[in-house]
Amino acid sequence: MSRKQHHDYSHQVYDAMAGCLACKSCAGQCPVKVNVPQFRSQFLEVYHGRYLRPLRDYVIGGTEWMLPAFARVAPLYNAVLGQRWVEKLMRKGMGISDSPVLSRANLKKKLRAWGVAEATPTSLALLTEQQRANSVIIVQDAFTSHFEAKLVMDVVELLSRLNLRVFVMPFSANGKPLHVQGFLGAFERTAARQAERLRALAHFDIPLVGIDPAMTLTYRQEYIKALGNEAVPEVMMLQEWLTTRLNTLATRPLELTDPGYKLLSHCTESTNAPGSPKAWQKVFAAFGLELELVSTGCCGMSGTYGHETRNTATSRTIYAQSWQPQVDADENAGKLLATGYSCRSQVKRYSAQTLEHPLQALLGALKRG
Ligand code: SF4
Repeated sequence: MSRKQHHDYSHQVYDAMAGCLACKSCAGQCPVKVNVPQFRSQFLEVYHGRYLRPLRDYVIGGTEWMLPAFARVAPLYNAVLGQRWVEKLMRKGMGISDSPVLSRANLKKKLRAWGVAEATPTSLALLTEQQRANSVIIVQDAFTSHFEAKLVMDVVELLSRLNLRVFVMPFSANGKPLHVQGFLGAFERTAARQAERLRALAHFDIPLVGIDPAMTLTYRQEYIKALGNEAVPEVMMLQEWLTTRLNTLATRPLELTDPGYKLLSHCTESTNAPGSPKAWQKVFAAFGLELELVSTGCCGMSGTYGHETRNTATSRTIYAQSWQPQVDADENAGKLLATGYSCRSQVKRYSAQTLEHPLQALLGALKRG
């Protein structure tokens, strides 16, 4: 059925919903808990029960399953992606622009080479109570692990330097891209499987911690809505967990050089977990470092929104109005840190700069010190 043949008011709703970044800032701040991304996802599911989906939706929804397969041939994947005709095909044919390249380092192999154990019920069962109290489990997400493998390694290195025993949960899909695209049935099935894996690890009473804030917050929002409170173990963001261990972070006085770091938070994180930026300040203070909080809105990427060809102009405008003045300011050179994968990716795309994650800055300061 073509859109011209039958007038259907839902087409106008679809067009309006396409303007939503699904950043969840409204959901975190609304006093009566209006959650636009939630009803946007519900609408998309119903709408596409009647009208065909664009290929783009399937590609984005399936990203978490495709990335591990592509990662096995990362150099080849990146070389193909760099071809102009492939870029054009993706931009015009699939509706996906500026797709990022994969990390060349294979995270799984690197972790194995470093002797970092996978978090499995078998490996955790071998720990004594004292060892468990000093352990942490990193819950991987598709974007950090496949596009920023070095960040995962840096987090592992920093935590190991702090005398913590680090386990990394084998990668499995979280389902957030499915939820954003309105594949709610598939999201619920993915969430149920992932929650089961998390429960099997949570049983050992070792903190579960995610690196990317937006992906980690999915466990306490969309997961709980889909599966209920009891079915989903707590997965903390890095700074939330680190603030529970402040007195163990720097056990001796450190004389670290303080460049005067400034934090650009992910908008989903700062609006849905408002204590997050201050928690980072406390973590830095434990190392004797200052961290200025910079007030910005959304960077315009918001997960995969900025990669949809139909959204690139808006995404660029939002970036120019919010993050770009901070990123391009001379006085901020070498000082800015960003917590979100998608924000760092947007900065790389439009300002050709690489911002560090706060823990990478801490690691660098410790190494220099
Ligand atoms: S763009 Fe963000 S703040 Fe605006 S409606 Fe969508 S989720 Fe809410």
